[in-house]
Amino acid sequence: MDILNKDELLQMEDLCIQEQPPAAMAACPLRVECRTLCMAMKDGDFDVARAVYTKTVTLPHSLSYLCRMPCQEACLRKDLGGAIEMRGLEWAAMQYGKAMPSRLLRRKKSGKAAVIGSGPFGLTAAIELSKKGFSVSLFEADNKLGGSLLRADLPEEALEADIQLAVDQGVEFHLNETIENPKDLPDPFDAVVLATGEIIPGTDPFTLQSPVDGVFSGGGYDSLVETIAAGKRAANSVDRYVKRVSMTAGREKEMERGTTLFVETSYFDSLPSDMGPFPNQEEAIREASRCIDCQCMECAKACAFIAHYKRYPKLYLREIYNNLSIALGNHTSNTLINSCALCSQCEVVCPNGLDLGKAIQSARNRMVKTGKMPPTAFEFAVDDMRQANSEHSFFFRHEPETSSSRYLFFPGCQLGASAPDTVQKTYEWLTETLDGGVAFMHGCCGVMAKWAGEEELYEKTQNALKEAWEALGKPQIITACPTCHKTLLESIDGEIKDIWHILLEKGVPAIEKPLPLTMHDACGARYMDDTREAVRAILKNLGCEVHEPSYTQDRTPCCGYGGLVQFSNTEVAKELTEFCIRDIDETRLTYCMGCRDRFSKAGARTVHLLELIFEGEKEDRKAPGYSLRQDNREWLKRRMLSERWKETQQEVIRLKLTYDDDLGELLEERLILEEDVRKVITDSLESDCFIEEKKTGLRIAHKQIGNVTYWVYFTTEDEGYRVRRAYSHRMEIL
Ligand code: SF4
Ligand code: SF4
Ligand code: SF4
Repeated sequence: MDILNKDELLQMEDLCIQEQPPAAMAACPLRVECRTLCMAMKDGDFDVARAVYTKTVTLPHSLSYLCRMPCQEACLRKDLGGAIEMRGLEWAAMQYGKAMPSRLLRRKKSGKAAVIGSGPFGLTAAIELSKKGFSVSLFEADNKLGGSLLRADLPEEALEADIQLAVDQGVEFHLNETIENPKDLPDPFDAVVLATGEIIPGTDPFTLQSPVDGVFSGGGYDSLVETIAAGKRAANSVDRYVKRVSMTAGREKEMERGTTLFVETSYFDSLPSDMGPFPNQEEAIREASRCIDCQCMECAKACAFIAHYKRYPKLYLREIYNNLSIALGNHTSNTLINSCALCSQCEVVCPNGLDLGKAIQSARNRMVKTGKMPPTAFEFAVDDMRQANSEHSFFFRHEPETSSSRYLFFPGCQLGASAPDTVQKTYEWLTETLDGGVAFMHGCCGVMAKWAGEEELYEKTQNALKEAWEALGKPQIITACPTCHKTLLESIDGEIKDIWHILLEKGVPAIEKPLPLTMHDACGARYMDDTREAVRAILKNLGCEVHEPSYTQDRTPCCGYGGLVQFSNTEVAKELTEFCIRDIDETRLTYCMGCRDRFSKAGARTVHLLELIFEGEKEDRKAPGYSLRQDNREWLKRRMLSERWKETQQEVIRLKLTYDDDLGELLEERLILEEDVRKVITDSLESDCFIEEKKTGLRIAHKQIGNVTYWVYFTTEDEGYRVRRAYSHRMEIL
């Protein structure tokens, strides 16, 4: 997908139907915003409710007594205790709500119009034409205004109040004037609305334009609401006729009675109405509270990122497009673009399959290409990937004492960073269980670069991995991380299998104590039904009781690790994590180390399936920080090479650092690695460039590494250094 391709963008925008009207509103000939009205009344705001109602209803006093509620047939409350009694609520809005002071706009006069007949159709047309700037003369044969409304079951005051609206609009009345034929009108008019009930043969039922030039006619509608709607259409047509614009263009919605808005009603319990036809305020508020506030927002219910920005994908798409299109000025949506986990959950939960992540990935790619990606967003994460694929961590070998491999175990960069012992034990089990040689490759699949929008680096990483795999003779790859699995599938044209299927085929080693667990599927395993089923089958074999959360299987949300959100927007990342672990007190079972560590950092008990199998109870193990993760990878390489491949490893001597826990947390939060601190101290000592407070021995040094300048406050201690303070910024020190 290319977000800047307008056709693709429009196609995607069209998938989001959140702006479609609720079914009852669509079914109302006057399109009364029933949802907004109910929400206002629910809060006791009768003034707003009245304003909502009168916005579209020309004769609100009369209709609030007489509407037959065609909206009820469509109302989604219908099967959940009965449709909302809208007419009663509208009546309450008119009774208890104050009219907003009307601002009579003095419009430029549009022309002169005559209306013959003062029934609801004629009255409506007269008022609406007046609002559009016409001088309107209304001719009535009777000595009273109102036509059929005079015979309706309606208090006199209601009709009088609606007639007053016409008076307020400046409609000129001519009572006791019978006009048999528009031609008999005393003055010349630009257009005439015949509202006596007689329909001129050949009149278009929608535009109400008759074959007689400048004459419009209507009548005979079976309800007041349809009559008012027709009166409005007639006024609209007259306006177009006088302005000489198309009679029909852009008017499709005026007659539409349907909607494509999706509303999930299963969240609601049945609740019957207890409101009479003329409610008091409390009864009206109770009835309005039955409204289910028809909206889609399925994606926002499921994704904390979408919910965070309090809008919906159709608007986000437009915002992202605008953000990318401006050459200068503030790119205010950069944070939005960099806060999506790119996990595709939205595609599954959206009734129309809109994948906002796809658009956002395209936006990130574009930003990198055009140099608009702020380096603060993903630099740290991409550097971490580089470390995983550097000579310090990356390696691949055939199984010890073999020179060819049928399989290759690729655990990914997060498993080794968090649980190096588990990686080693898993590899040992694989080599003991599988025949034909199991090679080992330790590195990152490249997804970090992909998520960061660094397409070139992603391709380079894929190619390097491919070359290494080819050098091993193209063995079947065994993955332990669903994201690696998917990522490798994009570049490797050989067989790739996940470890869960191997465990199932070969028999899962028994565990000491089966645990009750709540499942958390990896978002990387979306669309990988086989993988998710294999994981569940393993847990069954292990004797674990597994519970499924409300969003599970391919509807599972991202833990906050995906899309590198934890680096670009810690707040949204935390909300994504919290969403996954909310209301659950049981140990979370994951099969992605990213998820496991996010949950652990948030204080939840959690275990990775490989840990559970090969290491037993590890649910309370704390997730390591960024520095330790890199150390673990390097340590894993050195240990495996020395223990399994018997290759001599050079001892690594590092500056010894100490700091208290609070500072440790700050370093983590500020994305400052121990290695960066070491570089600052070593450099300052070698160049003898630091500030020293003689009394305390506190030294202050700084160093620019890449785009970042680090400041470190330290003192000497035993054989190393105690770090007192550290921070970083992106300003260059000259
Ligand atoms: S799920 Fe979200 S993206 Fe899909 S239609 Fe509903 S609001 Fe729009
Ligand atoms: S009661 Fe009548 S005017 Fe009100 S929403 Fe329903 S159809 Fe429309
Ligand atoms: S975080 Fe996932 S579900 Fe949410 S918008 Fe991004 S891709 Fe969609």
